[in-house]
Amino acid sequence: MPNDFRLKSVYGVGRDWPVSYDELEPWYLAAERIMGVGGEETLAPRSAPWPMEKIKPPYLQQRVHDRLQPDFNLIGDSTARNTRPFDGRPACCGNNNCMPLCPIDAQYHGGIAADAAVKAGVRLITQAVVYKLEHDEKGNITAALFYDWDKTSYRVTAKTFILAANAIEIPRLLMLSASDKFKDGLANSSGTVGRNLMDHPSVSVTFMADEDLWPGRGPVSPCSISDFRDGDFRSEHGAFRIDVSNASAVAGAASALVKKGVYGKQLEAELRKRAARTISIKNCLEQLPDPNNRVTLSSKKDALGLPTPSLYWSVDDYVRNGSKKTVEAYNAIAAKLGGTNVAHSAEGKFGNRQHICGTLAMGVHAATSVTDAVGRAHDHENLYMVSTGVMPTVATCNSTLTAVALALRTADAIHKAA
Ligand code: SF4
Repeated sequence: MPNDFRLKSVYGVGRDWPVSYDELEPWYLAAERIMGVGGEETLAPRSAPWPMEKIKPPYLQQRVHDRLQPDFNLIGDSTARNTRPFDGRPACCGNNNCMPLCPIDAQYHGGIAADAAVKAGVRLITQAVVYKLEHDEKGNITAALFYDWDKTSYRVTAKTFILAANAIEIPRLLMLSASDKFKDGLANSSGTVGRNLMDHPSVSVTFMADEDLWPGRGPVSPCSISDFRDGDFRSEHGAFRIDVSNASAVAGAASALVKKGVYGKQLEAELRKRAARTISIKNCLEQLPDPNNRVTLSSKKDALGLPTPSLYWSVDDYVRNGSKKTVEAYNAIAAKLGGTNVAHSAEGKFGNRQHICGTLAMGVHAATSVTDAVGRAHDHENLYMVSTGVMPTVATCNSTLTAVALALRTADAIHKAA
């Protein structure tokens, strides 16, 4: 959403990005063309159609959409999931196994990018752990040192270095690379490397609907309610997206029933009912950057003898108040679907959504951010970072598409600088 990039100026909380939605939009389109993204609704302005035709809404989505109208608008998510053969990969066949991965590669993932890079001539060194970056007197990076699986060390030199790991491992490497000149680690003159760790804290609800909806046909996570992703309330509490799951309920229901000692005809009848009517919903809550939420080096060592990352992550009232609003919405949704056995996740407990970001935040000022607007370290002219870590705020959207759009923009900047 365009306002996701200007949280501070519009709502007075969090921070602004050094890049606007309009500036990033062409890169979103480029990312969508590479990944094969389709969607059905446009929440933000677009200058071109989706490159992939949208996934047909599963039965559950159609029925829940109709029954929640006009109070909630359940829409199809934009997803990198083929609806026709594309990029040498087949169309989605709807067998409901998308998380953690699609067994037929109908759904985009990072391995596809790695394969494409290898085909283009990139040498990919696997089972290698980079443990230190070296620099010269000026602060330019001169080499990356890595261990292979039996801890033999290698040294790679280059003109330009790009760190393309996640928002935990890159800060860890920068801290591991501390030197006499950069005592707090590389790229860290602002003291913000590893800070402002964010994810999407999440609360959930399950209930039994009053009609058969048959979750499990089609993709696992096809739809969401985006009504709460932006609005004036963001000055007071976190925005949130509500995801209605389409994951098959059979395995969970069967094991719960067997554990309870239910067998025979009763098992069959009860399992059928639960498989057809169990509704599971969770959210993606916006969390503000908090410097106390951070990655540091722990005193524990990994198998290679390197310090493991240590994480501190907490939620504040901005999140807690957003979660209260979510629970109100959950109760209203359950009521509209004739819900019984409504079970909320434990109050005050938050799950994570693995959308980690913020620890390498990009920004205009070197004193308060790690990289500039194209992902170049303020402190090192030839060091770039492509990672969800560079995102200064987390908003309410899964982070992959933004990370790919930012990475393409960084690649373009490196080409131009060469
Ligand atoms: S439903 Fe999910 S797992 Fe199955 S083919 Fe489609 S994308 Fe892949």
